[in-house]
Amino acid sequence: MTDNRKALVLFSGGQDSTTCLAWALDRFAEVETLAFDYGQRHRIELACRNTVRAEIARQFPHWAGKLGADHLLDLSLLGQISDTALTSERAIELQANGLPNTFVPGRNLLFLTFAATLAYRRGASVLVGGMCETDFSGYPDCRDNTMKAMQVALSLGLDTPMTLDTPLMFIDKAATWHLAESLGGQALVKLIVEETHTCYLGERGELHEWGHGCGHCPACALRAKGFAQYKASA
Ligand code: ZN
Repeated sequence: MTDNRKALVLFSGGQDSTTCLAWALDRFAEVETLAFDYGQRHRIELACRNTVRAEIARQFPHWAGKLGADHLLDLSLLGQISDTALTSERAIELQANGLPNTFVPGRNLLFLTFAATLAYRRGASVLVGGMCETDFSGYPDCRDNTMKAMQVALSLGLDTPMTLDTPLMFIDKAATWHLAESLGGQALVKLIVEETHTCYLGERGELHEWGHGCGHCPACALRAKGFAQYKASA
């Protein structure tokens, strides 16, 4: 059963958002994608997006017809209101409040507001994002209660139902790999391993079993651990 609504997927080109894109293509009649350009230290993730979209269309013909326009919004103003490891050359470290300094305060609130505005104009009534409570980072603007509150605020403010779907909210990285396999089999797992980007340091480097990356940063460590757990439980 296909849901007749149009969905807009927050699609960065990483493992999580690519899994979300497949989830949306499996479910909704039409799917568009959105990314934000806010002066990330490493633009490689944005570069991976086009490859992932093209490979999904090529390898999954039943999804290709549903995959609509791609949008890239310039949010470079975020660089003016944040001073973090994502937008400057400071080292990634834990702050006193326990959050990594990659944290841009309230970033997802801004992203979702811009996404909803775009969705409204594009006739989409569903936003899909890879926010996750089990993520080691523990960003408060990724928590389920925050998403629920945003869904209400956006729906009221736009005076039309705007659903926020977060299929990864309560699952870990291993389960995210299992979800990808259930949606697109080993072909999708292979595509995600080879073409998506997660590494904080922006390294592609050699192709590990779990994908490209430096292998040492927190993002690589989490991805490698999740993939090992997935393989062990496959
Ligand atoms: Zn890395």
